[in-house]
Amino acid sequence: MNKISVVVPCFNEEEALPVYYREMCKIMKQMPEVEFELLFIDDGSSDRTLEILKGFHETDARCEYFSFSRNFGKEAAIYAGLQNAAGDYVATMDVDMQDPPGLLPEMYRLLTEEDYDSVATRRSTRAGEPKLRSFLSENFYKFINRISKTEIVNGARDYRLMKRKMVNAVLEMSEYNRFSKGIFEWVGFRTKWLEFQNIERSAGQTKWSVKKLFLYSLEGITGFSVAPLSLAAVVGVGFCLLAFFIILFVIVRKLIWGDPVSGWPSLVCIIFFVSGIQLFCTGIVGQYLSKTYLETKHRPIFILKDSSEDEEGK
Ligand code: UDP
Ligand code: MG
Repeated sequence: MNKISVVVPCFNEEEALPVYYREMCKIMKQMPEVEFELLFIDDGSSDRTLEILKGFHETDARCEYFSFSRNFGKEAAIYAGLQNAAGDYVATMDVDMQDPPGLLPEMYRLLTEEDYDSVATRRSTRAGEPKLRSFLSENFYKFINRISKTEIVNGARDYRLMKRKMVNAVLEMSEYNRFSKGIFEWVGFRTKWLEFQNIERSAGQTKWSVKKLFLYSLEGITGFSVAPLSLAAVVGVGFCLLAFFIILFVIVRKLIWGDPVSGWPSLVCIIFFVSGIQLFCTGIVGQYLSKTYLETKHRPIFILKDSSEDEEGK
């Protein structure tokens, strides 16, 4: 019998939890051919979340809970869940019903009957979301995809179902500053994308303010691109070029009209040239720093999907 582990991060979700559990019970009944385990991660909630989770665990052996000592963030909660998941298939899902549990049977079918390693979801619309938030999100995706080699899919949710080998790959990415949307792409594997319309939260409030989202977007940019570190080098070269043209201009002007303000032309050239060199050198330091930065993440050098040794081991 195949087992599906469902990882559910919860932060102050006392209102959303019962609704979610009821819905999941329906889905689990629809899929009698699979064994389920629901891993709830209480991310340092200050409301009755933990109490409710303990209740679930007492009445239903499929429910497990893990409670953090404080709020570590959704990324940490997902990592903890993946680490503790025992299933052959693992799903990550929000508790607020914005990731419809009803999609699970179809996701499972795609993985078992077709040759996919993971089924991911994205919102095709942002209806119901504040305008400013949508605008910022759209531009964030445009920007990061321009400067990062890892594709970050616009509207991608953290809702997905993965095979065990992909989960193991994600766990190998043990970096502290986590950005799941990038990590899931980075590890590769064959992914099927399902689309759905934006759904409003079932209960409670979003835990993400615009400020928190902005900081999270910086996490994505710095985690999956070292382009900002090259910025100094590019600007430095620009300054040097500019200095070169100014020098030409100043020399020509001096030859034609003489030098009315003595010393000014040479001073301007020196300022431009020296600051260009300085920025350029900062850029070089940036290049080495970016290499060191990538090394310290200890990301795997490659990830195997299949091998003849795997077959023999079966
Ligand atoms: N969440 C969490 N830790 C946090 C913030 C959020 O575990 O610090 C969980 C939250 O309980 C929910 C999911 O992450 O299950 C998504 O949060 P939310 O619905 O507030 O985000 P949104 O859907 O508005 O982006
Ligand atoms: Mg939500």
